[in-house]
Amino acid sequence: MIIDCHGHYTTAPQELTTFRDAQIAALKDPVQTPSRASLRISDDQIRDSLEGAQLKLQRERGTDVTIFSPRASTMAHHIGKEATSIEWSQICNDLIARVVDLYPKNFVGVCMLPQSPGVPPANSARELERCVKDLGFIGANLNPDPSGGHWTAPPLTDKHWYPLYEKLVELDVPAMVHVSSSCNANFHATGAHYINADTTAFMQFIQGDLFKDFPTLRLIIPHGGGAVPYHWGRYRGLAQDMKRPPLDTHVMKNVFFDTCVYHQPGIDLLLKVIPVENILFGSEMVGAVRGIDPTTGQFYDDTKRYIESSALSATDKTRIFEGNAFRVFPRLRAKLAAA
Ligand SMILES: [Zn+2]
Repeated sequence: MIIDCHGHYTTAPQELTTFRDAQIAALKDPVQTPSRASLRISDDQIRDSLEGAQLKLQRERGTDVTIFSPRASTMAHHIGKEATSIEWSQICNDLIARVVDLYPKNFVGVCMLPQSPGVPPANSARELERCVKDLGFIGANLNPDPSGGHWTAPPLTDKHWYPLYEKLVELDVPAMVHVSSSCNANFHATGAHYINADTTAFMQFIQGDLFKDFPTLRLIIPHGGGAVPYHWGRYRGLAQDMKRPPLDTHVMKNVFFDTCVYHQPGIDLLLKVIPVENILFGSEMVGAVRGIDPTTGQFYDDTKRYIESSALSATDKTRIFEGNAFRVFPRLRAKLAAA
């Protein structure tokens, strides 16, 4: 079985965007406030939005199931107030639940959280619990920077975040550390802000003692761990200089990287540097990079090809494609069995 741990509903029907545009317009002009009842998306629209995109690519590439969450770039937690994010999160998460209901063999749900700058992360615990207990989701996306590129929140290792980690541990679900759009012109969203955040989160984990306090918490750093694998010697050396424990005992029992790295040499480096048990297969399709690499004639984000072409043993490839995902997402097996 090939489990893609990283997919977003980037192809949701236009009605969703129209609702969001009205919700944002209403922040300045409350007369434009859209009613939730005005957002109507039919099952056929959902099917149409997936059949020619994610489902087609699953079939063509030979992957089985995608762990699927709302579009990351449109979480945009920096927009509006907490109530804005609560409504938007509930709508987006409910839509993911409908996708999973229609295609339970192809998709398993992961939620976005109703984060908002300056608002305690504890306030997101309720929506997390609703998504796991009522909608059957198996994880969450946690935005380390709800300000959208200005980094006004404390580091992920700060006690500010602990109530949310307590809920993740209680529910036994992992979180993917995933920023959203950037409203800082210095940082292109998917080209800089995402990779910055992945790298930043890892360094925070080295500096802090988060996993001493939460030994069973599991966090996924997407996009191949940002710059971390390439600079692995730097991070090991920094940990050593800072008198922190070695990375294999201090961070890597709790942190996992996906394979959303869009060329063979990058994947080869990831697989060589990072222990196999810390790597989950992911493609983030249909997502950040949608084109075809002219040097290979294949889609950049067809990451299954890179794993298959790597020098790993068949056993290790199976761990990356399947085994590690079941370990990191303990609720996954029951969901797939039910499907
Ligand atoms: Zn993503």
